[in-house]
Amino acid sequence: MNRISSELNKLVNRSLDRHVRLAVTGLSRAGKTAFITSLVNQLLHVSTNPRLPLFSAVRDGNLLGSKRVPQLDMHVPKFAYDEGMNALLSSPPSWPEPTRDVSQTRLALRYKPQKGPMKLLQETATLYLDIVDYPGEWLLDLPLLNLDFLTWSRQQAQLLKGKRLTLAQDWLAQRDGFDPLAPADEALIERLSAAFTDYLFKCKAEGGLHWVQPGRFVLPGELAGAPVLQFFPFVWADKYTDAQLQQADEHSNLAMLKDRYKYYQQHVVKAFYREHFSTFDRQIILVDCLQPLNGGPESFNDMRQALDQLMQSFKYGRSSLLRRLFSPRIDKVLFAATKADHVTAEQHPNLVSLLQQLVNEAWHTASFEGIKMDCVSLSSIQATEPGFVAYKGEQMPALRGHTLNGQVQTLFPGEVPRRLPNESFWQNNGFDFVNFRPLALQSDEPLPHIRMDKALEYLLGDKLK
Ligand code: GDP
Repeated sequence: MNRISSELNKLVNRSLDRHVRLAVTGLSRAGKTAFITSLVNQLLHVSTNPRLPLFSAVRDGNLLGSKRVPQLDMHVPKFAYDEGMNALLSSPPSWPEPTRDVSQTRLALRYKPQKGPMKLLQETATLYLDIVDYPGEWLLDLPLLNLDFLTWSRQQAQLLKGKRLTLAQDWLAQRDGFDPLAPADEALIERLSAAFTDYLFKCKAEGGLHWVQPGRFVLPGELAGAPVLQFFPFVWADKYTDAQLQQADEHSNLAMLKDRYKYYQQHVVKAFYREHFSTFDRQIILVDCLQPLNGGPESFNDMRQALDQLMQSFKYGRSSLLRRLFSPRIDKVLFAATKADHVTAEQHPNLVSLLQQLVNEAWHTASFEGIKMDCVSLSSIQATEPGFVAYKGEQMPALRGHTLNGQVQTLFPGEVPRRLPNESFWQNNGFDFVNFRPLALQSDEPLPHIRMDKALEYLLGDKLK
């Protein structure tokens, strides 16, 4: 009898177990790898973690423990948690290597249900948490689904101004050898595509620009070197009349560009939304606001544009492109300004206010039916400690940490603007955000952080009731 009732119990348990897919994204270097490493680490330490007071399941003693379990999606690379922890625990400590593709990890969270049928039927239940990491750059490709090749090319031509035009010179210098009507020359297209891809990399690395399309060109993952990533926008199309371009036959250079673009739309962009995006329940979008403040107005405005673009993927209005193609089910999005430990604590409210301004406008004008949104500032892995510096005879709040080459520094990095910076801000304010290396740690203590518990509460709190 006892055995039957225990089997029955197991069956009930299994049928009531819950499952949540949490997606983590952000543009390169926004802090995704550090965030996931810290999230997993905080959850693995729940039973002994005194640093999660804002996470109600831990504060109230309802989350009993967590462990890592094998992920179900066996074709998706595993998130490199152990490697990341090894880097953080090495001497001297270093930052985890960032991931460049989609990756995943799975945790089982054992908790005491607090309400509903779960509370009546079970003393403990399990929440399976899949954490999926993917580059925010991939979300910049959504509009491509609505644009044919020549329309996209014209849009790209309009972007070629200022920094972008300067960075595009090597690519544009090769355009004269390209005849759109001539028979397709695969080697020539490969060369021009390489020059175009180089230009996109330069936009990110030298120009501090984030808005690059197609996004997969700069983070190709397993598609590196594949023909689907070998095309370029035909930005000098206006040298030809429409009638001339219509003469291009199916074996021409132009036809090859169009075919590859179409293949990219179907097999790269659509496939990502279908196989990954439409399976997510919750989403956190990490934003590094500080680096673009360091970079200047062009870099800041570009980040703003990239964020606006990224948010299009959460616009689920009935007639939206996404709703027509897939059935997305994300019901909560959290925007997080990362690396809050780069600025002194009294600047944190400004950081949140700045992030709110960056996302609010797009949020209010779009139709985000049924999706809740919030903003927070956090540090996934706190690398600085509060300190003081003497300034004009007074003690001013400052940060203390080790620079990447090991020197101890105490500094006041600057003030974060409360509102979107204007002309006078750029003229009068200097920023000096130094990259610090992680603090030295003991292997059995949870990673130091700022407000990871607030993020956990928003993303998972209701799922552990
Ligand atoms: P990803 O490209 O989005 O995965 O970005 P990473 O997580 O690799 O972060 C990029 C870099 O930002 C790291 O190497 C660190 O230098 C820095 N970083 C990320 N999170 C934090 C944080 O919480 N505090 C500090 N001080 N630096 C951080």
